[in-house]
Amino acid sequence: MSASAHEPTPADALERAGLRRTRAATAVLDILLADPSRSWTHHEVECALTARGVEANRVTIYRLLERLVSAEVLEKHADHADRTWRFGLRTLESELAQARFECDACHRHFQLPQASEPTKAAADQILNALSSLGHLGQRVDLSIHGTCAGCIDTSVQN
Ligand SMILES: [Zn+2]
Repeated sequence: MSASAHEPTPADALERAGLRRTRAATAVLDILLADPSRSWTHHEVECALTARGVEANRVTIYRLLERLVSAEVLEKHADHADRTWRFGLRTLESELAQARFECDACHRHFQLPQASEPTKAAADQILNALSSLGHLGQRVDLSIHGTCAGCIDTSVQN
């Protein structure tokens, strides 16, 4: 079973978003593709670019990230703890009902394919409840917050 038969490249993603292959755009995607489970703030992307010696101003990065979200290459979600947006690669599973676990310590995302059946069942019930009220629900995101196994290990050692 290979879940990721098709590894997207920065060039693929930029083409999909209709963006020019600038040095900054390619570098941003390189950074995100290198660690697909992580989600990033604008500031973290900016720092990672600087670390690679790529000059890009804040507005350019902001526009680039938003553009990639519109093109459905990335997805963004509000980080209530940090009062900011975080950007991560959009996975195929994002388009279906899914359970996603986010570690509040390291902000990694974990997909929970093991939970996909109960998640679908719960999503169906929610969508049915909506439609009985005349609403049209299209997507259900179930997000669970907590501390990941890696962060629990680290805190036990300390
Ligand atoms: Zn963690």
